[in-house]
Amino acid sequence: MESLAVRGEAFDIAIIGGGVNGCGIARDAAGRGWSVYLCEKGDLASSTSSASSKLIHGGLRYLEYFEFRLVREALMEREVLWRIAPHIIWPLRFVLPYHTALRPAWMLRIGLFLYDHFGGRHLLPPTRTLRLADDPAGESLKPEYKIGFEYSDCWAEDARLVVLNARDAADKGAVISPRTRCMSGDRDGGLWTLSVRDERSGRLSKIQARALVNAAGPWVNDVLQSTLRVSTPAAVRLVKGSHIVVNRLFRHDRCYVLQNKDRRVFFVIPFERDYTLIGTTDLDYSGDLDAVQVSPEEIAYLCAAASNYFRTPVTADQVVWSYSGVRPLYDDGASEAQEATRDYVLKLDTSEESPALLSIFGGKITTYRRLAEAALAILARRLPRARKTAGWTSRDALPGGDFPIDGFEALVSKTAERYPFLAQDTVRRLARAYGTRVERLLGDARSQSDLGRRFGADLTEAEVLYLAYNEWAMSAADIVWRRSKLGLRMSEAEIRDLDAYLGVLQAQPQRVVQRGASVG
Ligand SMILES: Cc1cc2nc3c(=O)[nH]c(=O)nc-3n(C[C@H](O)[C@H](O)[C@H](O)COP(=O)(O)OP(=O)(O)OC[C@H]3O[C@@H](n4cnc5c(N)ncnc54)[C@H](O)[C@@H]3O)c2cc1C
Repeated sequence: MESLAVRGEAFDIAIIGGGVNGCGIARDAAGRGWSVYLCEKGDLASSTSSASSKLIHGGLRYLEYFEFRLVREALMEREVLWRIAPHIIWPLRFVLPYHTALRPAWMLRIGLFLYDHFGGRHLLPPTRTLRLADDPAGESLKPEYKIGFEYSDCWAEDARLVVLNARDAADKGAVISPRTRCMSGDRDGGLWTLSVRDERSGRLSKIQARALVNAAGPWVNDVLQSTLRVSTPAAVRLVKGSHIVVNRLFRHDRCYVLQNKDRRVFFVIPFERDYTLIGTTDLDYSGDLDAVQVSPEEIAYLCAAASNYFRTPVTADQVVWSYSGVRPLYDDGASEAQEATRDYVLKLDTSEESPALLSIFGGKITTYRRLAEAALAILARRLPRARKTAGWTSRDALPGGDFPIDGFEALVSKTAERYPFLAQDTVRRLARAYGTRVERLLGDARSQSDLGRRFGADLTEAEVLYLAYNEWAMSAADIVWRRSKLGLRMSEAEIRDLDAYLGVLQAQPQRVVQRGASVG
């Protein structure tokens, strides 16, 4: 078996799992000067981290469970993450219609007061009360909803957040290996020796590292028990959540936070300009983690829940797309899935002589950066001295995010000026996805044909090649369902053609000599 290590040496840190937590830790560690290896058995963000509600939020409802530490940390992260990635993260206003049969108004007011004053809100606008009869947010709701509250959180392109953390980690020297499964791991003297398999070629390699992070999300216990053969220090509670997408239900750009009859909170969110996202469910899960799917019962539940609020009922036949994920929650013994803590728990398995193993239970997209800092604070004592201190990830922009927090419209105008042949919607989509790196993607193009073949919607060969060479995209799904949501606008045949193109690109890159060259 071939041995792979940085200049013949062991890595400081190896990470199993390329979700938001694994990639967040990789970025922070690489930026502090540690050598990092990360393996992900599928695509980056292929599991839970692309199946979230995509909210960077304090979590108003967690206040009911007295999760003050989590809520405060999460609230503080909103503006930090918005600042470091203003292309993929932006403010969103939430409309909470009030109804006497639901949580009492005094409870909502206390929650919203805490929300406004508890966690570092400097730029996001505060809570206000709405008269729904006079507000566009009331137009699509049933007339019995007369007043509501409106507050701020943020939206995030979850899968892009993961990939940009991986990109920055790699730019700082980390080795990022998607489609690479960790098969086994053994402690060998002061080092971990991992056996990893390239899932495309079947090739096995050996990796050595001083410390190991198990960021396998829903597989955290499988990795501990089957891969590393270590006893489980904590239980994970697997809770499935599904979302459905329908054609746009309302014309404004605010999101609804709604309470269902079973007291569960769900969201109805503007999505991809022409669509509305509705979710989520909370169901204990024991099925196949590689085949998580929305059930007809979940679709019916979400349609019924939304129909309680909207004048026009939402029905199953309106669903154009759905996705499901499994939350890898720390099992705190709560009776209901929705009550299980969303906070993260880090468990260290080590003795003085043996190399460290840190396992991650729970967490949220919102708190991934703080989780990474907490994880590295634990491991730092067992690693060579870092070149940089903790905290840099709250200041340095993610790739493409190096523009002012309120500078998105200026970026759109600048891009439209430089590339006048692009449609306005395309300029906006590309600026959102790539931020200032949009210029790397478009280069010196002077006309649409300079961007090569068109695969469907406004996806060009230039974008596909950028994603393949810079963001580890290897299949059509990587591009149309994770690094973008263009799958909503492409036909199955177009997606198949894209897959075929990517197959050729990987097998025979020389056949894709230049943009526009045919590989069919
Ligand atoms: C329905 C739903 C809605 C949510 N909404 C929000 C929200 O709005 N806001 C928010 O902040 N959070 C939200 N969350 C929570 C958030 O999505 C998760 O906490 C987070 O994505 C977990 O990230 P992770 O990196 O731990 O796990 P994952 O993203 O699952 O990553 C783990 C990775 O490990 C890989 N892996 C496993 N075993 C191996 C192996 N042997 N070798 C190599 N790789 C391996 C897997 O393929 C996987 O990609 C939501 C979650 C769900 C399910």
